[in-house]
Amino acid sequence: MRKAIYPGSFDPITKGHIDIILRASKLFDKLYVCVAKNLNKTPYFTLEERLNMVKVSLKDIPNVEVIATDKLIVSVAKELNAIAIVRGLRAVTDFEYEFQLAAGNEYIDNNIEMVFLMASLNKSFISSSSIKEFYSYNVDITKLVPPIVVEEFNKKKLNNKN
Ligand code: ADP
Repeated sequence: MRKAIYPGSFDPITKGHIDIILRASKLFDKLYVCVAKNLNKTPYFTLEERLNMVKVSLKDIPNVEVIATDKLIVSVAKELNAIAIVRGLRAVTDFEYEFQLAAGNEYIDNNIEMVFLMASLNKSFISSSSIKEFYSYNVDITKLVPPIVVEEFNKKKLNNKN
């Protein structure tokens, strides 16, 4: 069985991520979507909220399993016997960061291949940070994220008001 892992912060999950997940799920027998705790970034949503949004959004894709970790992705990949780490590339700006990440992963373990999928053209402008910005300025995000994400944003806004 050829397994792969798609890690990310998913703060929150977007239709850009889902596009990559659907495409990667066709390339591998099993795809683990791994929500990373990510100590380098202060997330807007908690790990539990991010994990829940990812799980709800992907529940209908049979060969996808959602997990969470605070470990090194290469170590998680090894534990799961995954042969590849999938990442998405939007623009040249992503390339530099992803290239460095790939080189680091290769240094740690060169048996795990990095697989990069190009963002679909109509999704290439979607990022978790632009979604947060759009929402804060009342721009309609319903076409860019799954419904659970809109619900969670609204819930958070209500909680912050109380
Ligand atoms: P990280 O904090 O690890 O970069 P993200 O959740 O921001 O996590 O992104 C996870 C992966 O998905 C990254 O490889 C990122 O480049 C990719 N990605 C994010 N948005 C899109 C999109 N709209 N289209 C394609 N790939 C994307």
